[in-house]
Order: sequence, then structure tokens, then C-alpha cells
Amino acid sequence: MSDPMDVLAPEYRRLRIGDTWRDAASGVTFAVEDPATGTTVAEVADAAVVDGLAALDAASRAAAQWAATPPRRRSELLTATYRALTDRAEEVARLITLEMGKPLAEARAEVAYGAEFFRWFAEEAVRVEGRYSTAPAGGYRILTVPKPVGPCVFVTPWNFPLAMGARKIAPALAAGCTTVTKPAAQTPLTMLLLARIMEEVGVPAGVVNVVTTKRAGEVVSALLADTRTRKVSFTGSTEVGRVLLRQAADNVLRTSMELGGNAALIVCADADLDVALQGAMVAKMRNIGESCIAANRIYVEEPVREEFTKRFTERMGALVVGNGFADGVDVGALIDEPSVAKLDDLVADAVGRGARVLTGGVRPDGPGHFYPPTVLVDVPDDARMLREEIFGPVAPVIGFTSDDEVLAKANDTEHGLVGYVFTRDLQRALRFAEGLQTGMIGVNRGLISDPSAPFGGVKQSGVGKEGSHEGILEYLDVTYAAIDLP
Ligand code: NAP
Repeated sequence: MSDPMDVLAPEYRRLRIGDTWRDAASGVTFAVEDPATGTTVAEVADAAVVDGLAALDAASRAAAQWAATPPRRRSELLTATYRALTDRAEEVARLITLEMGKPLAEARAEVAYGAEFFRWFAEEAVRVEGRYSTAPAGGYRILTVPKPVGPCVFVTPWNFPLAMGARKIAPALAAGCTTVTKPAAQTPLTMLLLARIMEEVGVPAGVVNVVTTKRAGEVVSALLADTRTRKVSFTGSTEVGRVLLRQAADNVLRTSMELGGNAALIVCADADLDVALQGAMVAKMRNIGESCIAANRIYVEEPVREEFTKRFTERMGALVVGNGFADGVDVGALIDEPSVAKLDDLVADAVGRGARVLTGGVRPDGPGHFYPPTVLVDVPDDARMLREEIFGPVAPVIGFTSDDEVLAKANDTEHGLVGYVFTRDLQRALRFAEGLQTGMIGVNRGLISDPSAPFGGVKQSGVGKEGSHEGILEYLDVTYAAIDLP
């Protein structure tokens, strides 16, 4: 097998600014690690503020021409990106596995998911419409004109190195905005590859700029303080989201925030248990549990708790942990040592409060950052893992006896991203759908991500939507004209 790094030649492991691929002005680089082995796989440019502002310069200079590019042309370039990602899916997937650690099968699924945002927004690009009406009191007309918001700054996380950027870049370009993306320092390579692919398919210089850096705080705050920036979209932790919201306030930026979650997955006694088990496995274990929509707390109604727990534990215990490139591996490496240490701490905290571990719970020796699929029961309400985002393959299973009780527990969190409910009773499903304080709900399914659906949270899980028609509206301002027709 070829080296996964072959897909990104050394000249593209640099900053993508305007029509150039260039080193940081300081010449400094930083190392990217393979989390499965702990070895360095590449060095990439470490941008400072001056480099970030050069990228914003490029985005600003390209803004007017991109906004004036016919929507059909913008659409065609997004379609070309979709096709290129699809044609080169294997190469892109291998790079994702290399820098992020997820099993190759999951990396392929991410490429398909990420590519779909380009296809979806290629279709949306030609459907941006205004309205024309008569004012209710008569006498004049009202015309609304949607316009691109202007240069956008994107900050993305490491857990979906392609898809989290794709779902910002695709709608922004569809709407006519230019972009500067700062990918996570742990997974910058996939975003650089996407920028290279978009250059190859003909996206004009300056429309997609990428700034890799180890100095996220100073580079991003300089970008948000610059009045040429008109929008910031962030996917990451609630903690960093709060910081960026404060910074965005000074420049009164449009904001989209896709932040952390603490999803409850509720299994009712009347559920089809096979469906519920399958849904729980997907909701918990997709992306090694490193997903904002991962099931963090699994609540099972008492009559089926024992059977569900037994079968769920068997399935979790049977998963194969290992290097994401190896055949048959279900659970790849976690992103870094602090992530593994955090899981260890959360499990120790729960056990210290009386929880029992049914499978897993013991971290293996290195190299690499691995943690086994773990199931706990008798987890008390005050255990940290019920209040914090676990972000790994650890599942607390908790019994419940009434819908009101479980709904109150499910909603007792600052987060409100997603909830899952498994039941064959339509009324129950609808009561949970109405009662859960979340932006999204999975009913009898554990996977809700879909480029054609509005993804986003309420409460402290975020502001705004990604995907669907709502996704492009995040990148459009509406000008209204009052027109007299004497
Ligand atoms: P993170 O620590 O918040 O980092 C996300 C991004 O923000 C990275 O690019 C990071 O750069 C950057 N960053 C960190 N501190 C910053 C600062 N002071 N100013 C500007 N940028 C800063 O989150 P993560 O650990 O990468 O990702 C996991 C989190 O993302 C979880 O909470 C998860 O729930 C959330 N997430 C949410 C969604 C959603 O759609 N709601 C989707 C995926 C993930 P560095 O890499 O250099 O630190």
C-alpha cells in the first residue's frame, strides 16, 4: 500500500492564501501525529497573525468577483468538488484515518458525508430568491434581495476533519461568500487536501483560503477583530464557542456556533429491542464516540433494562480495537493522550461513586491512544460522565420508570444538541419529540446527520443551522427596498 501522505505533496502542506501555497512568514512549522502510533507524519506551516491577515486580504480581494459570479457557475464548481471528492474518496479517507485515527470504513463514510454537502449546496446555489410584494397599507412595493454576507472565518474541530469544514465552505460558496478556514491543529492535512482539490477543479484563487496554526487563539481573534470579516462559523467545544461569541460581539459579526452535546438516548419498554440496540451502537460508537451527537447517557425503561444492558454489553465487548488501517477494526485510536486520560478519569469518578463496569474500563498500554468500549451501570446522577461530554467509547446505562422522570433528567443539562428515543408508540414518540430540549431528535434511529436536514443545537449547544435550505441562509443578508410607484 502507498503512503497515505502521498496524496498531499510537500508543497501543499503549507498555507493556502490567494493563488499561493506558502510557508508561514516566520518559516515555523508544527508536527502532525498519527494518533494510532504516536509518530509524526508531516510538518505543516504554523501561521501567525500576519499570515492569517494575509489570508483575509485574499478573501476580501476575491469577495466582489465571487459574489458576482453567476450562481450556475458557483454551483458547477461545487458539483465538481463533489465529484472529485467522490472519485478520490479512498485517498481522502486514508488521509483522514492517518491524522485522526478513525477506522478506514468510517473515514470513507465521512468522505461520502462531506462530499454530499457540496452536492446539496450546488443545488441550493441556484435557488436563492427574494420576494416582491405590495405593502399591506398599499402605496408602495417591498422588494427583498438576498446578498452574500461577505468574507467568512471558519474554525473547525478534529473529529470530522473533512465534513465539519465542508458543511461551512459549501454553503458559503453557494451563497457567494469567500472564506478563511482554520482547521484543528491535530488534523490540518485533510483541509489542505480539500483546498488543493478545490484549486484543481477551478475554484478561483482567494475564495478558499486555509490557515494552519498552533496559535488558534491569537490568529482567530485577529481575524474576528478585522472589520473585513463579516461572519464567523465555529464547530467545537462550548467553552471555545463562548470565547468566540464574545470576540464576535465587538465586530457585530454574524455567527454560527455548532458546540458540544450531552445526548440522552431513551429506550422505552415497548421499543423493538433489536432496533434500539442497533441505534444505540451507532449513536454511541460512530466515530469512536468522538462525536458531538454521540449518545452520552443511555436511559432504558426498567422492564427491558436488564435484557438491553446484557445484549448491549455483549456487542460493545465484541468490538475490535486497533489501528484504523487494519482489517476488521471497529474502534480506532482516540485523538490524543488527554482524551484517553479524561475517559479514565470519568470512569474512575463513576466507579468511586458506586458504578459497576460491565466491560472495558481498563486502558491498554501504548503506543497510540486507545480506550476499550466500556459499559457502566449503577451510575449515580451526580457522576461527572452524566454531566460532561464523554467524547469516547464509554456508555453509562441507567434505568427509568416514567416518561416524566426521564424527560426531566434528559433535559437537566446546559446542552441541547440531540436526543434519541426508541418506542413503537407514536404518541410517546411525539411527546418526547416535543419535550426534549434539543435541536434534533432521532426517533428509532441512531444516526441523524444528513446534509439535506438542518443540523444544529439549542441552549448551549449552539446557534444556527448547517445543511438543508437553512444552511445557505446563514450566509445571506437580506436587503429590503421600499419602492414607490407613483
Ligand atoms: P475545541 O477545542 O473547541 O477546538 C475546536 C477548534 O477551535 C480547533 O480548530 C481549535 O484549534 C480552535 N480553538 C481552540 N481554542 C481557540 C481559541 N481560543 N480561539 C479560537 N479558536 C480556538 O474542540 P475540539 O476538541 O477540537 O472538538 C471537540 C468539540 O467539538 C466537542 O465539544 C464536540 O461536541 C464539538 N463538536 C460539535 C459539533 C456540532 O456540530 N455541534 C460537531 C463536531 C464537534 P486547535 O486545534 O489549535 O486547538
